[in-house]
Amino acid sequence: MTRITGRPTLWEALKKGRRGKTIHWAGLSLVCTLIGFSWALALLSYLLPPIPLYTDLITGNLGFYSSIFLAIATTVFTLDFLFARHLFCKYGCAFGVVQSIAWMTHGRGQLVTFDTTRAAACRDCTKACDAACPMRLPTRSHKRAKFSCTQCLQCVSACREVQKDNPQGSLLHWQPGEPSRQTVLIPMHQRDSESAKQRLNSA
Ligand code: SF4
Ligand code: SF4
Repeated sequence: MTRITGRPTLWEALKKGRRGKTIHWAGLSLVCTLIGFSWALALLSYLLPPIPLYTDLITGNLGFYSSIFLAIATTVFTLDFLFARHLFCKYGCAFGVVQSIAWMTHGRGQLVTFDTTRAAACRDCTKACDAACPMRLPTRSHKRAKFSCTQCLQCVSACREVQKDNPQGSLLHWQPGEPSRQTVLIPMHQRDSESAKQRLNSA
């Protein structure tokens, strides 16, 4: 998708007027449909015994409701992969959500931080960090805005490339978080940790 349109989602590519060649789109649509079908089948095999399901599919004896389920799920997955793949990664993947919650509740978890003292350097930049993010996140923003960050560090690499001639280097860094309001899911943790510190100091 990125190679053909210069954007990771068709939605953004069309907004930017990047259309690619018809042959590429045909190939891309086919791949998305095949992956969408395989996901739909995998999902259905959670609900029905897999071996009879696969046997019915191969022999052409799939039941009415199974066929409807496969058709709808394949369509939904295919459209998602084509138009906004990151939305499934952000909101549809149960594993991703659980991992994100664990990360958000861990105040000292590693995260991408932005050097706000040098924010003026971003004025002349094409926002390469945001463009590089496969999850389409505001990479320079605080942790809560990057709930679904996969820690791939492509934003950091992009900024390093942009700032390669700058002796101060990248404005984005991969650092341990601080248990502050920016780095935890529930701000109560901040108050808890502060009151714990006060109790320790007064002891
Ligand atoms: S680490 Fe990856 S997912 Fe997280 S903000 Fe940076 S580019 Fe996006
Ligand atoms: S790539 Fe670096 S310089 Fe450019 S907008 Fe992002 S943080 Fe700022």
